[in-house]
Amino acid sequence: MNPIRFGIVGAGTMGSGIAALAAIKGHKVVLYDIEQAAVVRAKDSTARIFSKQKQKVASFHSASLNEPEHNITYSSDIMELAECELVIEAVIEDLDTKQSVFSRLESFVPDNTIIATNTSSLSITSISSVCKNPERTIGTHFFNPAHLMKLVEVIPGLNTKPDVVEKVKTILTALGKITVLAKDTPGFIVNRIARPFYGEALRIYEEGIAGFATIDWAMKTFGNFPMGPFELMDLIGNDINFRVTNTIYNDTFFDPRYKPSQVQKRLVEANYLGRKTGRGFYHYDDEFKNPMPEANSELGYEIFFRILSMLINEAADAVFMNVASVIDIDTAMTNGVNYPKGLLKWADDIGIEKVFDNIVMLHEEYSEERYRPSPLLKRMVRNNKSFY
Ligand code: NAD
Repeated sequence: MNPIRFGIVGAGTMGSGIAALAAIKGHKVVLYDIEQAAVVRAKDSTARIFSKQKQKVASFHSASLNEPEHNITYSSDIMELAECELVIEAVIEDLDTKQSVFSRLESFVPDNTIIATNTSSLSITSISSVCKNPERTIGTHFFNPAHLMKLVEVIPGLNTKPDVVEKVKTILTALGKITVLAKDTPGFIVNRIARPFYGEALRIYEEGIAGFATIDWAMKTFGNFPMGPFELMDLIGNDINFRVTNTIYNDTFFDPRYKPSQVQKRLVEANYLGRKTGRGFYHYDDEFKNPMPEANSELGYEIFFRILSMLINEAADAVFMNVASVIDIDTAMTNGVNYPKGLLKWADDIGIEKVFDNIVMLHEEYSEERYRPSPLLKRMVRNNKSFY
């Protein structure tokens, strides 16, 4: 692909990562932020990315990378975005701010400029509703760190034109990204389907079935997950994880499957946000002795299989509700949150009936809608079908 001119609005964590990647790939980039201080910080953070990248390239090929720093213009003047072919907005997660950026951009960029948003939780349709021409708007949801994580969820809004989707996929693929297509629904693919990883783990802990260290141990030991749910919530930040769950719960009109946890709410209230405050579920000072897992294989497997069954049910229901295809869902979860195996492939390997029976058993036991099996799983069992 010929180099294009990228515009990035918002030079924070995500904007800087996306800008650095585009520059490394030889594109011209204007990285704009409303705050001069953010522009200055972005120069440092992109320089760090370039220097790491140069070391990596040099050690592999004994050749040096072109000078990506020459490809970026850092600016606090929005008008510098005037000639860009694709502008990606990565400002704070606030609907009013994003809408004002979209309508401002539309007032001066050329008619064929694509305007994209990196929102992780707002609807693409709502952000673009302020545009006169929402056909050229789209969601491109990168994962953090944006220059390293392979996955980008591509989300057309209600009015996005199909050729805009295709063009954006081509550009992202040329950046070395793996794209998946998601419907404009709460949490898109990854943030929706990952909910039970946290929510069911929290529920098991709340009920006192096991401690959090045991639940983490179970998911790593029996599921080969790189991190347990509580370790991961502490890393993400309990405030952020709790907010994402709340948003999805509200935006699905209070579907009980996404009900937030009281335990996590209390942690947020106590400012036990995780690694960043030195304490979350675990303590992060060397003095404190964190609890050890109860390495009971029978209990561990039961916990793992309960959480996995809920994840598979969620993934199957996303297929059922046309959020994304089977392949894109498995690709998203293995590349966006490093699951060891695609959930739907995992369902096939275990046997869909076994997973379905486990969910039906939970549903009967608790009589809660949270445990309702996806109609797709029910149908597949009846017809003896598999996902692949
Ligand atoms: P951040 O706080 O690091 O950066 C946001 C930047 O936007 C700041 O530098 C701020 O000065 C700037 N800004 C605010 N209002 C602006 C305006 N009107 N015009 C121009 N710049 C403005 O935030 P972030 O973590 O990079 O997140 C950016 C977006 O990406 C959010 O929508 C977030 O939900 C999404 N996202 C974040 C992550 C993540 O892990 N951080 C992952 C995926 C998606």
